[in-house]
Amino acid sequence: MANTLAANRTLDALIIGAGVAGLYQLHMLREQGLDVRVYETASDVGGTWYWNRYPGARFDSEAYIYQYLFSEDLYKNWSWSQRFPDQPEIERWMHYIADELDLRRDISFSTSVASAEYREDAGRWTVRTAEGEVIDTQFLITCCGMLSAPLQDLFPGQQDFNGSLFHTSRWPREGADLAGKRVGVVGTGATGIQVIQTIVDEVADLKVFVRTPQYAIPMKNPSYDAADVAAYKDRFEELRNTLPHTFTGFEYDFRYIWADLTAEGRREVLEEIYENGSLQLWLASFAEMFFDEDVSEEVSEFVREKMRARLSDPELCKMLIPEDYGFGTHRVPLETNYLEVYHRPHVTAVGLRENPISRIVPEGVLLADGTLHELDVIILATGFDAGTGALTRIDIRGRDGRSLKEDWSRDIRTTMGLAVHGYPNMLTTAVPLAPSAALCNMTTCLQQQTEWISECIRYMRDNDHMVIEATREGEDAWVEHHDETADANLISKTDSWYTGSNVEGKPRRVLSYTGGVGTYRQKTQEAATAGYKGFDLR
Ligand code: NAP
Repeated sequence: MANTLAANRTLDALIIGAGVAGLYQLHMLREQGLDVRVYETASDVGGTWYWNRYPGARFDSEAYIYQYLFSEDLYKNWSWSQRFPDQPEIERWMHYIADELDLRRDISFSTSVASAEYREDAGRWTVRTAEGEVIDTQFLITCCGMLSAPLQDLFPGQQDFNGSLFHTSRWPREGADLAGKRVGVVGTGATGIQVIQTIVDEVADLKVFVRTPQYAIPMKNPSYDAADVAAYKDRFEELRNTLPHTFTGFEYDFRYIWADLTAEGRREVLEEIYENGSLQLWLASFAEMFFDEDVSEEVSEFVREKMRARLSDPELCKMLIPEDYGFGTHRVPLETNYLEVYHRPHVTAVGLRENPISRIVPEGVLLADGTLHELDVIILATGFDAGTGALTRIDIRGRDGRSLKEDWSRDIRTTMGLAVHGYPNMLTTAVPLAPSAALCNMTTCLQQQTEWISECIRYMRDNDHMVIEATREGEDAWVEHHDETADANLISKTDSWYTGSNVEGKPRRVLSYTGGVGTYRQKTQEAATAGYKGFDLR
């Protein structure tokens, strides 16, 4: 057992991660007078928006709902230039937050938490960093983000490639020179799509390796002038009152009832929402598409029709239009001229379904049938070990030496995504079984979770509790409720990172709580009001 004597630092709370959740968590706990510090692998703040600096990275939540709502001044003193701004602007906004709240002095950058061990006798954690620091802390709060463990060592032979190979979320800060190069992109999720449509003009030759296509929705991204900015800022109160209670933490909710409309009426609604150029077709049209196979098929066919109209070649239609899963059961990407890219003479879609990538060789990508695609640059837009990966890549040991990595390799369980039985005084955000594991406007959900954690710690201190642990019974009840809700949703029937099926051997479970952001908020609040029902306080 580690002991506190070896510690270089003693804290009330140690937060892992300086992204959207970690920054606000630090601010709140510092306001409570806690001795709190953030540890962050990156060299600056930003989390997702620090790491994902690949070409084309941008929001697809409207910028004005992706902000913190706890301070009107903080909200209104920042102005966005577009409806869906790009990564450099978002990163600047995160710097603005860190500066305004004077957060950097309590953050250790370029420092990675390597292990954390709970000491039952003391009710405290010993945390070790890869750089050799040892910290003794009462609370361990994980703000690691849901998509921060990249799947980057996927193919044999990667290290032998003669050219440059990048995973999108580890894009070099100094940028990458793609001009005039033969570039291959593996992966056509939301990331791959943004990369492909952005680099197409720059590269000499583009090979897109396509395994599972996505339903694509054109983004409408107007620039904002002063009047637009003033107009959204005027909505601050309304947004503050609305966002926490909708199904997805966006400003809109499902507005229409499928059965109430005629076929023409439904079509009208779909056309109108499609024209909005946002995620509304997914998150504010017909909730029935998630539960009813027939509705799902009709909405899917509507989107397929739109995609077919943009693709002139039947072979491209076959490769790029999804047929075997329903619209919205994968994360829906917004795009700009993505499908049109494939009509360009220097672009080739390489289908992987029947002929997967066998390995990377020094010259490029080798397929199973022996075809070699010679390349100068390979871009892996191959996604993440979502929800769990950030924590299982740290050696976290709870009560009796149990390992979170081993526990979650058997079954991914949490209590409301806020705690895990067997890991006292560890409080979590953006982990499975909460909306923040996938299905929400992240800032809405992360604000709610970090506020819940702050209030929990305040309550413990006010009532002289030193330790909080999710009970086995409480966790069983939450997992059962989560599964019941998830199993009714067609998301559970399809393969994607939403169900963990993108990582070999990962236990299958819908990662996100699908009961809705508003309902989740209410349930977590009820537990707190009932004296932290489902938790043992001692
Ligand atoms: P992803 O959705 O998991 O997509 C990964 C892609 O890589 C898929 O096309 C996958 O194909 C492919 N792939 C993985 N392993 C492969 C292999 N061995 N051979 C061939 N292809 C392989 O990951 P992502 O695109 O990075 O997106 C993850 C999430 O990040 C999104 O869903 C979204 O939530 C978030 N994101 C948000 C934005 C934004 O606009 N705000 C932008 C980008 C990403 P299969 O599907 O066949 O496995």
